Amino acid sequence: MLPHPSPLLLDGRLTDGSGGTFDTLNPATGEVLGAAADATAADMDEAIAAARRAFDETGWPRDVALRVRCLRQLRDALRRHSDELREMTIAEVGAPRFLTAGAQLDGPVADLGWFADLAESYEWTRDLGRAEPMGMPSARRVVREPVGVVGAITPWNFPHQINLAKLGPALAAGNTVVLKPAPDTPWCAAVLGVLIATETDIPPGVVNIVTSSDHALGAQLAEDPRVDLVSFTGSTATGRAVMTSAAATLKKVFLELGGKSAFVVLDDADLRAACSYAAFSSVAHAGQGCALTTRILVPRDRYEEATEIISRTLRSVGAGDPNDEATMCGPVISARQRDRIEGYLELALKEGGAFACGGGRPEGRDRGFWIEPTLITGLTNDARTAREEIFGPVLVLLPHDGDDDAVRIANDSPYGLSGAVYGTDVERARGVAARLRTGTVSVNGGVWYGADVPFGGYKQSGIGREMGAAGFEEYLEIKSIAEGVQ
Ligand code: NAD
Repeated sequence: MLPHPSPLLLDGRLTDGSGGTFDTLNPATGEVLGAAADATAADMDEAIAAARRAFDETGWPRDVALRVRCLRQLRDALRRHSDELREMTIAEVGAPRFLTAGAQLDGPVADLGWFADLAESYEWTRDLGRAEPMGMPSARRVVREPVGVVGAITPWNFPHQINLAKLGPALAAGNTVVLKPAPDTPWCAAVLGVLIATETDIPPGVVNIVTSSDHALGAQLAEDPRVDLVSFTGSTATGRAVMTSAAATLKKVFLELGGKSAFVVLDDADLRAACSYAAFSSVAHAGQGCALTTRILVPRDRYEEATEIISRTLRSVGAGDPNDEATMCGPVISARQRDRIEGYLELALKEGGAFACGGGRPEGRDRGFWIEPTLITGLTNDARTAREEIFGPVLVLLPHDGDDDAVRIANDSPYGLSGAVYGTDVERARGVAARLRTGTVSVNGGVWYGADVPFGGYKQSGIGREMGAAGFEEYLEIKSIAEGVQ
């Protein structure tokens, strides 16, 4: 399905581009899987020009039926190749196999159908009826239209989910897209280009896929005046750079950024159930999820007990081969990311923390990029290790002195992406959830992930929402029309 090296998709053509190739690695082994086309600034320029032409000169922005058909074709093509895609995703992302049945593959593929259905049933025009502003009889309506050319810039941790959560609503809304994926996972994006070109009726230029080892191509996309909206997912630091690049042309920016979310265990909770759930859910995919709850807040008088339960759970989770059905926590994506996490582990000790479990590389894994599931105790919420996003299987356990204190600590963060509350009295748990300044909250193990659920951040975790009807509307402009009538 995927030629080697994997190609770019530029104006409907699968091409090697002009910059040679770069390697993509298997993070579980460190081995080179193969190569991907390494686009240059000239290739990016061509992609943007093609997306602009497809938006300005074809019927795509106004043909809802074509868009709905194309999205369903893409979903069906991805499903036809799901066995191959699953193996490729495990190999390139290091994603545990069980996650490919959900957010790493099958979930986002199905979500394309949800966006097609939404476009089909959407109220594109809303009649506001007649009025006589300043004595002028007028028939008014509000029309929703695509924004134009979307620059989509994505990270490596859930590549299919994030690439498709941008492509799906952007295309359903009638935009054209230039997708620039992370250099760590080019194949997960390139495969979309191949399927779009060979198995769908998506017209040339409507989707352009530009893999590159050069982050500067992301900045180029954010700066270019022909791009109307930048839809970015990645770190808060890069989000700031994207917003700055986009500012010169005042284009719309949509940012899904980092997090350091809190899991609040209330004093009436079943501590064993709450702490083991908090532990295993937060180190899934080696903690490489922006919304994972990596600060666990427990009642102060049960801190020792919680340390014991979480450590036992993390030891039993371990770090395993992502190919294995039972693996929850696989490798981290790269040597760079592993080194960054190890830097935080050193910092935790310097800040006065201790490892209740983990703290290093798992035994016997000398190839690839690995970190043991780790619990850090003995820190306060002021420590950098407790405040900054580590993006690895590293949890920090913090004590709280009751509900108000727990809410204070949870909200004492520059981020506001997600959170969780666990308690026996559901009304009380709901009350605490309502006070968390975050875009999503789980109460007693509830899972908010789904095509119809808006996802995004308060504070420095982002601007706007992805998924759901709110996510679709990020890709729409609003035009109000008034016709003079008698
Ligand atoms: P990153 O910010 O380093 O890179 C993300 C993308 O931005 C990549 O494609 C990269 O090439 C590109 N890029 C880099 N510099 C750029 C620049 N100056 N201008 C434009 N684009 C540029 O993030 P990452 O390491 O790939 O991913 C991990 C981060 O993503 C974490 O912080 C995580 O929390 C965040 N994330 C957030 C969400 C969310 O929905 N909120 C989801 C997944 C990941």
